[in-house]
Amino acid sequence: MSRITRRDFLKLAGATGTAAALGTFGLSARAAQGKGPRVVVIGGGFGGATCAKYLRGGDAGIAVTLVEPNLKFITCPFSNYVIGGFRTMQSITHGYDALRKKHGVNVVHDTVTAIDPAAKKVKLKSGKTLDYDRLVVSPGIDFKWDVIKGYDEKAAQVMPHAWKAGPQTVLLRKKLEAMKNGGTFILVAPPNPFRCPPGPYERASMVAHYLKQHKPKSKVLILDAKDSFSKQGLFMEGWKKLYGDMIEWVPGAKGGIVKAVNTKTMTVEGELDKYKGDVVNVIPPQSAGQIALKAGLADDKGWCPVDPKTFESKMHPGIHVIGDSSIAGTLPKSGFAANSEAKIAAAAIVAMLKGETVADASYVNTCYSLIAPNYGISVAGVYRITEKGIADVPGAGGVSPKEASEGFREDEAKYAVGWYASITADVWG
Ligand SMILES: Cc1cc2nc3c(=O)[nH]c(=O)nc-3n(C[C@H](O)[C@H](O)[C@H](O)COP(=O)(O)OP(=O)(O)OC[C@H]3O[C@@H](n4cnc5c(N)ncnc54)[C@H](O)[C@@H]3O)c2cc1C
Repeated sequence: MSRITRRDFLKLAGATGTAAALGTFGLSARAAQGKGPRVVVIGGGFGGATCAKYLRGGDAGIAVTLVEPNLKFITCPFSNYVIGGFRTMQSITHGYDALRKKHGVNVVHDTVTAIDPAAKKVKLKSGKTLDYDRLVVSPGIDFKWDVIKGYDEKAAQVMPHAWKAGPQTVLLRKKLEAMKNGGTFILVAPPNPFRCPPGPYERASMVAHYLKQHKPKSKVLILDAKDSFSKQGLFMEGWKKLYGDMIEWVPGAKGGIVKAVNTKTMTVEGELDKYKGDVVNVIPPQSAGQIALKAGLADDKGWCPVDPKTFESKMHPGIHVIGDSSIAGTLPKSGFAANSEAKIAAAAIVAMLKGETVADASYVNTCYSLIAPNYGISVAGVYRITEKGIADVPGAGGVSPKEASEGFREDEAKYAVGWYASITADVWG
């Protein structure tokens, strides 16, 4: 692929019909500075950091600015293992030096407070503004604080969600360590759709792994808004085998839907019963990241509809939404999927900036979960665009077999570690 030059870009920007797509705001001023088209990326997580890197890899003539408030990114993947006690926070923390120094991304540590799609500008918390020709939005998820009565940001300090890795992860781990032997750990699992479909059940496994060693009289109670969950048969088989009756799962139809919490009495109110926990982990219902909602990129359900081929927003042209915030057909909200979407969006943006045809793509996802440090299971999928949007390619994916040997589960646990090393190197390396 040849590098887009200032001359190419200006020629395209001036051509009839492409000017609007490219966005001509300030081009002549930028041309004077010898710069190519500008892409601003919001969010330095799995989707945003990958997209920034692959935009530069796709064409080094593109000036890419990545806006991310945190100096370091702490991954949700493997944060359950910190809670389980066999990974450190440091081992799941990644910096932005490689994006800056190796890939020439302009990383700005700030927060986007507003997007102006008409003027093609984003406003930063620091007061600065950035102009863009195309914008990529990958802010992950935010929580619907109002749905479970009594569960707000303050309550999350007593009943942590730990669904954004960082201080919440450390807080939940501390609470687990302080729990008495014979205590009850309540996990409130969210309704669909949410970030990381197998995540709550991997979390329950990791809590049980810790309790089995240190507080074996304790219980893990999962109160679920749903009646089924990802890799359910495999999780349940593993739970029985490794933890006996320690983990109990209450589906939505049997009273698992939580309506309210009380942080003073440490109680959780289901549809049929009230439950008292020693540690309560509430994973609340979710939506696209706040900035996507504020910019009018989401639909009435709180997620962002996009063109599946380019991830360009159906609400605002010129803006691409990737990762958890987007609606990407049957692709799950995972780091792997965000990474896959980011590469497809980057290739589409490069093609669009050059006035070339956007190629068809296929999408991939694999999610490993550990039920114990040496007991792994996985689900994999390949996806393509159909009339209904992004959908599974029949027969191209699947889950680990049931009743597999110990060696098989051990191998899958090793693959999980390999997967983490390779995806984090791909995103931040
Ligand atoms: C416990 C747990 C375990 C998981 N395990 C796995 C796993 O094993 N495999 C897997 O594939 N996925 C896993 N996931 C899911 C994965 O973490 C997400 O799907 C993934 O992070 C989504 O990427 P994203 O780019 O959409 O969001 P994120 O990676 O969360 O990145 C969003 C970034 O945007 C930034 N941001 C937000 N708002 C703004 C703003 N206004 N201005 C600037 N920046 C902003 C945030 O600071 C953040 O850095 C797990 C999730 C959880 C909770």
